[in-house]
Amino acid sequence: MESGSPKDAVKTLTPTVRCNGTPPTPALREGPYYKPDTPLRTSFRGDVDGGTPLLLHGAVRTLDGKPIGGTLLDFWQVGDAGVYDGDGFGLRGHQFADAEGQWRLETVLPAVYPGRTRHVHVKVQSPGGDVLTTMLYFPGERRNHLDKYFRPECLMDVRETPEGWDAAFTFVLDV
Ligand code: FE
Repeated sequence: MESGSPKDAVKTLTPTVRCNGTPPTPALREGPYYKPDTPLRTSFRGDVDGGTPLLLHGAVRTLDGKPIGGTLLDFWQVGDAGVYDGDGFGLRGHQFADAEGQWRLETVLPAVYPGRTRHVHVKVQSPGGDVLTTMLYFPGERRNHLDKYFRPECLMDVRETPEGWDAAFTFVLDV
């Protein structure tokens, strides 16, 4: 699909940003480690021994800020060891946002692995909509600006809590 025809070029244009709305969350490469048919679940904590607890949570909204309930979110990441589970579904799973567009995943902090800054992969698909493949990033990481896939628009709002790290992100979809 790299014919470079004008028709293909049109398809890759970034959606127009409305002047009174929030820009849509940008798409980022899937990378080589995605696996389909992941289990439905909202916690990855049982997949690993130890690790730093991380609570990922947030919302899915339209450009106008309306919640998109029932959105599919499919996450995959590394843990402390910095490797993806190629055999099973460790640190992989999907869930659906609730009626208010809210989602929540109990997981562990992903390690930095060679060539990449700290990140979590995710596919987001509103009901009947297109799949957005992107990544979530952590502020204050030394390697963020050395990573060619880093996008500041995909930085989460991260804070430390007595239970571990809490990271919030709102996906904005052009539906
Ligand atoms: Fe990755």
